[in-house]
Amino acid sequence: MTTTRFAPSPTGYLHVGNLRTALMNYLIARKAGGTFILRIDDTDAERSKEEYVDAIKEDLEWLGLHWDRVERQGTRLDRYSAAADKLREIGRFYEAFETPVELDLKRKKQLNMGKPPVYDRAALALSDDERAALRAERGQGVWRFKLDHQRIEWADGVLGDISIDAASVSDPVLIRQDGQVLYTIASVVDDTEMGVTDVVRGSDHVTNTATQIQIIEALGGSVPRFAHHSLLTGPGGEALSKRLGTLALRDLRERGVQPMALLSLLARLGSSDPIEVRSEMAELIDGFEISHFGSAPTKFNVDDLFPLTAKYLQTLPLEAVQSRLDDLGVPVSLAAPFWTVIRDNIETLNDLEGWWTLCRDGADPVIEEEDAEFVAEAMTLLPEAPFDGETWGGWTAAVKAATGRKGRGLFMPLRKALTGQAHGPDMAALMPLLQVVKAR
Ligand code: GLU
Repeated sequence: MTTTRFAPSPTGYLHVGNLRTALMNYLIARKAGGTFILRIDDTDAERSKEEYVDAIKEDLEWLGLHWDRVERQGTRLDRYSAAADKLREIGRFYEAFETPVELDLKRKKQLNMGKPPVYDRAALALSDDERAALRAERGQGVWRFKLDHQRIEWADGVLGDISIDAASVSDPVLIRQDGQVLYTIASVVDDTEMGVTDVVRGSDHVTNTATQIQIIEALGGSVPRFAHHSLLTGPGGEALSKRLGTLALRDLRERGVQPMALLSLLARLGSSDPIEVRSEMAELIDGFEISHFGSAPTKFNVDDLFPLTAKYLQTLPLEAVQSRLDDLGVPVSLAAPFWTVIRDNIETLNDLEGWWTLCRDGADPVIEEEDAEFVAEAMTLLPEAPFDGETWGGWTAAVKAATGRKGRGLFMPLRKALTGQAHGPDMAALMPLLQVVKAR
């Protein structure tokens, strides 16, 4: 059965880059009728925070990305120790004692000589006595996985056939000096024991995948299908990594971005499929094909989310926003016409408040100097509220007859006097919603 997982580290809030990974794994599981696991990668006890675990769940729930179960790496440390023991037993695990400064020096030397900065495996040559002496002097070492120096190959769901020379990669450290188990092995143990069949993650993980394939094989697990999506860049192709902090999902929610707008964009961005705003998750699931995604960096522009949100809102029936209108205090009798008239003139639901305030209290009029007399005269002809669907037509006809103005010169000053702005809904439709006219 298809099983995927989204495996965030709870060290910060989810951003659009994380969402891309989560969504792809979610869509693959749902399309196959499989299982989607939320795995919290919290082996780094120092940086992991419970508040981020809660925030991750809240953000995924907001988006409707429901998981089938939650797993926590922090509760599985014994499983990782068992795997480490197995690697030791089969001679694929070795202790190394170089300090970070020594490693850095080695790397610099290699680079100076034009060689790739790959760990030289000096620790493998240590005798038992040397090792004991180093341990006595420096304490515990780190534990490295001994790669098999062959080519590591896999058919990547996005990148196609990949072949990496294991000799070009350093033997990965799986256990730190302080005993902390690292993600590289924890993830492999989890993927194997939880029956994960498909792993989609960012292309920054390609080298991890190469080493993890060998670790999985050494532990006797079956290798999942891997797909590495391209990384997101800003609109000009600039790296997003530094700006991702400002693209947190909760900030976008705060700014009024609708879940379906965000999901519709990210489920297709960087693929050959068109980006269309969808109203139902099922439509995103049906049309999702990981093989349609390209390997080139994918440009992401946060501004694109607003027109998509606006488009999505235009499809919503009154019921979907009723509670929002109630919160604003829109009377029941006005809710339906208010929504029908206003939904085409908002970018996000946050804009509703401004329109409702305008309807309830009237707008500060904007009157150009050359229109002052004209507007003053027009106001004497405006009937008393409440207005209805005929008010605008009747009023403007009367004003036209009295002043001789017509077209834009007639309508625009009146619109600006009543709404304080040059753009907005059809005035005939808006008039019945206007409770007060300040320009009078
Ligand atoms: N916790 C890892 C990360 O956030 C998970 C990577 C993976 O999907 O294997 O990068």
